[in-house]
Amino acid sequence: MRTIYVEELIDEIAQLCIKANIDLPEDVRHIIELATVQEDWETASHILLDIQKNYQLSEKNSLPICQDTGMALVFLEIGQDVHLIGDIDAAIQAGIKKGYAKGYLRNSMVEDPLIRENTNDNTPALIYYDLVPGEKIKITIAPKGFGSENMSQIKMLKPSDGREGVENFILQVVKEAGPNACPPIIVGVGIGASFDRAALLAKKALLLDLEKKNPNPYYAEMEESLLQKINELGIGPQGFGGKTTALAVKILPFATHIAGLPVAVNIQCHVARHATTFI
Ligand code: SF4
Repeated sequence: MRTIYVEELIDEIAQLCIKANIDLPEDVRHIIELATVQEDWETASHILLDIQKNYQLSEKNSLPICQDTGMALVFLEIGQDVHLIGDIDAAIQAGIKKGYAKGYLRNSMVEDPLIRENTNDNTPALIYYDLVPGEKIKITIAPKGFGSENMSQIKMLKPSDGREGVENFILQVVKEAGPNACPPIIVGVGIGASFDRAALLAKKALLLDLEKKNPNPYYAEMEESLLQKINELGIGPQGFGGKTTALAVKILPFATHIAGLPVAVNIQCHVARHATTFI
């Protein structure tokens, strides 16, 4: 059993907030660079080059990649042999508050969805806990911009809708998102489970390595086929046309009820930020 005092997490989380907002992950950069080389529509390739310049300048000058520094999503995988001392939820919120203040990151949270007063410190973060074997804690911070989040959708399909119904729904969501999601996008898809879990699967799909194929050959083929169909829509970078509408489609399936086929599509813009540490 390993003992961790939750106060130790505050500075780690503050640093992760800043890192995530100024330093785009390597896999996202690589896939944008590859798309730039492959794009043959001139306007689209200029936009992709501007996107590259933007994240390079952010890293060089320690500035946020986008003005929307996001709702702070925190994913924790806690080893079951860890004994946490203190209020972990309070420590995480303190870390978010410290990181957003120290990094001069925009505060984007309102206390109540209808009264809409800004909390002025970007809390509360949304925290997801998973228990895993071992005695470490894995912390991932993913700031989520709402231009793309607002274009996400969920649908309870019938089992008879099958793969065709799932693909049609995903394509419809991407078409409706159009330029509003700041393409090129990454399409996170959760298939199966329940109404709420499908959405979480879609969100977690966005954290997967974009350069790694789905370990299940059926879904690897489905992701490739969907990516091709999405890129044939011609929305293109920032909606100005071209073949780079999406950079990747990532699917996380899960067992479901015999009477159901939930599908959630979580859209992520090209500023696909997340940073991870292990304690
Ligand atoms: S959707 Fe992404 S790129 Fe567009 S404003 Fe939001 S965070 Fe920025």
